[in-house]
Amino acid sequence: MSEGTTNLSLAETVLKRVDVGIFVLNKNFEVQLWNNFMAHHSGHLAEEMLGKNLFDIFPELPKPWFTKKVNTVFMLNNFSFVSWENRPYLFRFAHNRPITGGADHMYQNCMLMPVNNENGKPESVCVVMFDVTDTAIATNLLKEAMEKIADISNRDGLTGIYNRRYLESRLESEFDRTRRYGGTFSMVLFDLDFFKKVNDTYGHLAGDKVLVEVAQRISNQLRASDIVGRYGGEEFALILPETPIEGAQVFGDRLREMIELEPVIYDNTTIPITVSMGATEYSADLASYDKLILQSDVALYASKAGGRNRLTCYSPELESIAASGAKH
Ligand code: GH3
Ligand code: MG
Ligand code: MG
Repeated sequence: MSEGTTNLSLAETVLKRVDVGIFVLNKNFEVQLWNNFMAHHSGHLAEEMLGKNLFDIFPELPKPWFTKKVNTVFMLNNFSFVSWENRPYLFRFAHNRPITGGADHMYQNCMLMPVNNENGKPESVCVVMFDVTDTAIATNLLKEAMEKIADISNRDGLTGIYNRRYLESRLESEFDRTRRYGGTFSMVLFDLDFFKKVNDTYGHLAGDKVLVEVAQRISNQLRASDIVGRYGGEEFALILPETPIEGAQVFGDRLREMIELEPVIYDNTTIPITVSMGATEYSADLASYDKLILQSDVALYASKAGGRNRLTCYSPELESIAASGAKH
């Protein structure tokens, strides 16, 4: 056996055994080489593939995209790379992992390289395909875990609705968005009436149950774009995008009524609950988003001072009532 033959069979053996997909296409997208990995995963042997147009055998391939990609390699005589993160796969192959991580196909990274003739001109393109399913599954799981952690850190531990930090960040972004693009939005701050007495009369656990229940009832009434959060101990806040004050008033009053009419049952005991609310609307002359919090607090205070179980919309005249009064 000459050295040349030995080398050829060595190359063939490597091509056969290597655990990556390798195939070569000419300018007409006819297959020039098709290794065992490709045969094994596609179910098409090299004998079937050689000389055939790739798209005739695999009509499901993303033809316009892949054609452009390959033609660019021919034209620029340069390598090209496709990451699974941009395009999960070129060929929809099954993977041999246990069904965990939610991957129902093999994830692939693809490298395309020009194969030159003796004149240095690209004659064909070699595609090398790596099975990166493990990396993709791990990355996706990690991404999901990070999203869960981010979500948990935005939520209140007792009620599961958003916490104050998140509410304020959303309020700020809503404020900035409205300032930049126009439109309006409202916020409603509310506070449970005589909640200290609820704790004193029925116990702290009953008080907790009331908070959870109120949070749930409000959440059930919201549109997808509305945001509700626990602003403090027994204070909640609503951000209502695209909603002028009249809408906030109607919606807030409906919530208030719902809470009043349906007492919370805890341990066979009926606990009547009412809430006081303060509503305010975005205005272009507000210096920053926290002015909205101050305004809804002033309006809320007026509701408390006015007898509780009511909603008040902010107006500048209310400032004097708030200035003279105690904290709710
Ligand atoms: P007002 O009508 O003026 O709002 O009266 P209030 O009694 O509700 O007002 P205050 O702010 O004096 O009392 C709030 C109470 O809320 C005191 C606190 O013990 C209770 N509270 C705050 N956070 C929690 C909580 O997580 N669980 C329970 N059970 N109670 C809480
Ligand atoms: Mg209260
Ligand atoms: Mg309070």
